Amino acid sequence: MGAMQRPFNFSPGPAALPEPVLRQAASEMLDWNGTGVSVMEVSHRGKEFMALQAGIEADLRELLAIPANYKVLFLQGGAIGQNAIVPMNLLRGRKSADYVNTGAWATRSIAEAAHFCHVNVAASGERGGFTSIPKQSEWRLDREAAYVHICANETIGGVEYHWVPDTGEVPLVADMSSNILSRPIDVSRYGLIYGGAQKNIGPAGLTFVIVRDDLLGGALPITPEAFNYTIQAANNSMINTPPTFAIYLAGLVFLWIKEGGGLAAMAERNRAKAALLYETLDASDFYVNRIARDDRSLMNVVFQLPDPALDAPFLEGAKAAGLIALKGHRLVGGMRASLYNAMPIEGVQALVAYMKDFEARRA
Ligand SMILES: *Cc1c(COP(=O)(O)O)cnc(C)c1O
Repeated sequence: MGAMQRPFNFSPGPAALPEPVLRQAASEMLDWNGTGVSVMEVSHRGKEFMALQAGIEADLRELLAIPANYKVLFLQGGAIGQNAIVPMNLLRGRKSADYVNTGAWATRSIAEAAHFCHVNVAASGERGGFTSIPKQSEWRLDREAAYVHICANETIGGVEYHWVPDTGEVPLVADMSSNILSRPIDVSRYGLIYGGAQKNIGPAGLTFVIVRDDLLGGALPITPEAFNYTIQAANNSMINTPPTFAIYLAGLVFLWIKEGGGLAAMAERNRAKAALLYETLDASDFYVNRIARDDRSLMNVVFQLPDPALDAPFLEGAKAAGLIALKGHRLVGGMRASLYNAMPIEGVQALVAYMKDFEARRA
């Protein structure tokens, strides 16, 4: 079989997976773990899969140094599902929650939470076009709030928290769909962390929740049992059939990260990749990035060309050069390069070379 050159895939999500992970999954597709069948074809309650899932949870706990008083849940319904499931579980008799609006994903979380409680928008970057994260000194937090919700990385707009808000006794809840595992974090600063897997963990279909155990037990009575953290925590996330193949693949990604040096090594690589691209943007009079320097996302780099009419030729040329999925979200326009863990520095080097070449030909 000839070596196939795969393109560099800058997709925001579902996103690129590490090639060694795909190869291992392919090699185990017909016979997983000596069972004679694939991992998709065994009972989630059988001893092989139970052992697999326990090991995968242990690897995630090790990677993120998750303290013992936190539960790890493997659910379904995506981050968008969690926008409803979080208030259902965490209001605990309180009437309101604080939300910080940093862009499209936070806006969506706010709209869903408003079906369940009073939402206090403690701060918003809307007037600045969501090009920066509001400073904590401008936040109007409510001491009686059930929790404070943030979107740790706005995948569409390209802003990211590079600091952890101080919310005192009120639990901090973070949507980390698009920056989980991109660097070490201090889980103990959060009450709950959630996200979809399909950006930086594995395939779509798996939703992760990391929740401090003292926040359990207070779900609204209407909460479906599949979405009740307390019930799922008591049942190894198996009150319904979990997304077994997605969990298996996430497990291969966790091993790939561990073998690659863990989250400190990922962070160093991710910083270097983003720095190369932002330096290129800053040095150019052609490409524009409007995000405040301190709040630039290391995962999703958003940039514009001087004329939207150049977008199509830029994307066409990029594809021909083996660089795919660079089109920006329709809400923002322009381009977006997503630089999750699976994107090697060589991909960013190739992108930067292409951008310079395109600029030289058009400027
Ligand atoms: C992708 C994304 C979502 C949506 O995730 P789904 O799995 O489609 O529900 C929500 N929030 C953020 C920050 C995202 O990047």
